[in-house]
Amino acid sequence: MRQVLLKGIGGKSKIMLGVSLDKLADFFNKEKTVFITDSNVYRLYGKRFSQYRTFIIEPGEMHKNLRTVHDLYEKMLDIELDRSSYIVGIGGGVICDIAGFTASTYLRGLSFAFVPTTLLAQVDASVGGKNGVNFRGYKNLIGCIVQPEFVLCDFDTLSTLPADELKNGFAELIKHALIGNRAFFSRLESLRDAALMLDKDIMAKIVYDSLKIKTKIVSSDEKEKGERRKLNFGHTFGHAFEKSAGIRHGEAVSIGMVMEARLSNAMGLLSSQDLTRIEKMLLSFGLPVSFKGDRQTIMDAIRKDKKREESYIHAVLLDGIGRSVIKKVDMERIGGVVNDLC
Ligand code: ADP
Ligand code: ZN
Repeated sequence: MRQVLLKGIGGKSKIMLGVSLDKLADFFNKEKTVFITDSNVYRLYGKRFSQYRTFIIEPGEMHKNLRTVHDLYEKMLDIELDRSSYIVGIGGGVICDIAGFTASTYLRGLSFAFVPTTLLAQVDASVGGKNGVNFRGYKNLIGCIVQPEFVLCDFDTLSTLPADELKNGFAELIKHALIGNRAFFSRLESLRDAALMLDKDIMAKIVYDSLKIKTKIVSSDEKEKGERRKLNFGHTFGHAFEKSAGIRHGEAVSIGMVMEARLSNAMGLLSSQDLTRIEKMLLSFGLPVSFKGDRQTIMDAIRKDKKREESYIHAVLLDGIGRSVIKKVDMERIGGVVNDLC
């Protein structure tokens, strides 16, 4: 079993990779613990945590709101949870967000843990301490930063994930390699086939490498302000594609990463060979590197997403594979890259 420790804003977190769901009893007391999950995860894996009291919510981002949290507070009050109670969120990113936020606010904060069951939640959402819900159409407008005590990953749960869900996770995993570790990027190139087949040992290895990069950034951010923005690589422009084209997060981030890599190349930071390697890597994980859509719509979405009056955007760029920097990029250059991509 591999472990990663995270010391960040809002506490410490112990992330354990390769823990079977059959071992939950080693970590959580039966009397004191309440599980929060969604109906899909419950249908697939509920038997594995049937000894615990469980609150089941509807799956999906549209349920990540204060109404769901309110219902959970009511249930918690009904069963008279007290300060010694423990909350475990088991599911994807949505469940981690809701469970973390509900636990952090009930009785001014109960201890909690996550058992992420999607690759995206394992490499991203369950780590970093951000917990929140959407409000009036704004993503994660209401939330807090509190670290889960534990994060337990069982890679067996990935076998039931739909292919698109897996891709979402791989996109963030590749992102971590690109912003933080060139050697890891090379390892990913050679381990790709085993990763796509969800080989458990290989998954443990690459999720570990990926988390090392994320936790280092999250931990350092207290001192080095702004470091955490590097995690936005691919997202600055990715969000514009996600919003205006309604494509999935992982696909949008993939196109966003290509766009930011091309900007890096155009600005003399990233070699053409590295750019080709990046595009090849994304394609080999089934992720898109171009976009079939209206350029103007994308440009409008990019402008709208950022401060409209300014003629430049702060973007995360690559100073070679494995090194990221934040730089000002002017809109004209951005327009050029959008033209190439679409
Ligand atoms: P995320 O993709 O951010 O991790 P969600 O929590 O929305 O977010 O999870 C995506 C979908 O996958 C949800 O419908 C959820 O119920 C479902 N899901 C979560 N874990 C698994 C799993 N191991 N196998 C199949 N479906 C899962
Ligand atoms: Zn993301």
